[in-house]
Amino acid sequence: MAIDQAKLAKLADVTVRVGLNLQAGQDLILTANTVALPFVRQVVAAAYRAGANVVTPILSDDAITLARYENAADSSFDHAPNWLFDGMAQAYQGNAARLAIAAEDPSLLSGQDPAKVARAGKAQSMAYKPAQKHIVEFDINWNITAYPGTAWAKQVFPDLPEDEAVTALAEAIFAASRVNEPDPVAAWAAHNALLQTKSAWLNDNRFHALRFTGPGTDLTVGLADGHEWAGGSATAKNGITCNANIPTEEVFTTPHALRVDGTVRATKPLAHQGAVIEDIAVRFEGGKIVEAHASKGEAAFIKLIDSDEGARRLGEVALVPHGSPISQSGILFYNTLFDENAACHIALGQCYSKCFTGNPSADEITAQGGNSSIIHVDWMIGSAEIDIDGLDENGNATPVFRKGEWA
Ligand code: ZN
Ligand code: ZN
Repeated sequence: MAIDQAKLAKLADVTVRVGLNLQAGQDLILTANTVALPFVRQVVAAAYRAGANVVTPILSDDAITLARYENAADSSFDHAPNWLFDGMAQAYQGNAARLAIAAEDPSLLSGQDPAKVARAGKAQSMAYKPAQKHIVEFDINWNITAYPGTAWAKQVFPDLPEDEAVTALAEAIFAASRVNEPDPVAAWAAHNALLQTKSAWLNDNRFHALRFTGPGTDLTVGLADGHEWAGGSATAKNGITCNANIPTEEVFTTPHALRVDGTVRATKPLAHQGAVIEDIAVRFEGGKIVEAHASKGEAAFIKLIDSDEGARRLGEVALVPHGSPISQSGILFYNTLFDENAACHIALGQCYSKCFTGNPSADEITAQGGNSSIIHVDWMIGSAEIDIDGLDENGNATPVFRKGEWA
């Protein structure tokens, strides 16, 4: 067996106890690819040991996904199983927790018609909206974690034989998820405390905007009125403190949807819905992307930013030091859960309502500059060459990052 089973059991434990902080009597909805079944079984066992009421795994399968693209009628691609997502929404209303296990092949759909992929993605996003609302508004405890799928591992380590690639990706996931520490749960508590120190400093400074400068990048990101920085563990509206991402290295907040100006160049490829988009370069004016290019996957990127009115505007800005363990591993994971934690990033689309002080209503969030969209897609703009300044309302600068590290 290529994957260290003792470490996998520890990852299942970290996922349930730190990631979800699943409570006795809580239901759990879990989505995963069939390639992650060995881990799904460990997580389900850990969840029941933690006192879970009913755990419901919902599995996807690469061959089944491709069977649709190869055989379905054209009209199929404008539809999604709304009933399933409505059921999920109902479960979250009843306080079910949510776990997603990332394991998928980043290039699964790269050979399919991009128009069909985009239509299916849009139908899925729209159907998912009522359930996603409970996630973005942080009504319940949730977590995303990862398992080394074979195709994913081969993409990350193309020069290794299949079993060695899986082992290497497993070890990279274990290291990033802190399961190599003698007491992973204690290691997460210490890491969460550090991230909270950084967000507290940013919240005390109450910057009006951040300015990113580096090769191909001179971008001023206005911050939403009443924005709040968050990072590490946080308390959902159901009162449960969880770590929504395992791993996580970021502190993040909400940009002002109308106050983003300048140019920015991606520092890593973006793997999105089966396509790999490379060398994204965009120009913002008044918060909106007015010019967009990519050396590879440009059509997929343009389709993505044309998803709806908010898809050309920012919903998140996040700071990650270049010295973070994921960044230092030097591995390009082709998966946002990892790659976004290796570099500063921005996300197009929906903002997180938890990144505001005082629990504003949806209308107040919009008035304060919070963006809304059916998409939320992170892409990486940080590197060892990026400087960041915090700007006050008069444009006075305070160093935040120098050469990719906290100033
Ligand atoms: Zn982020
Ligand atoms: Zn994000």
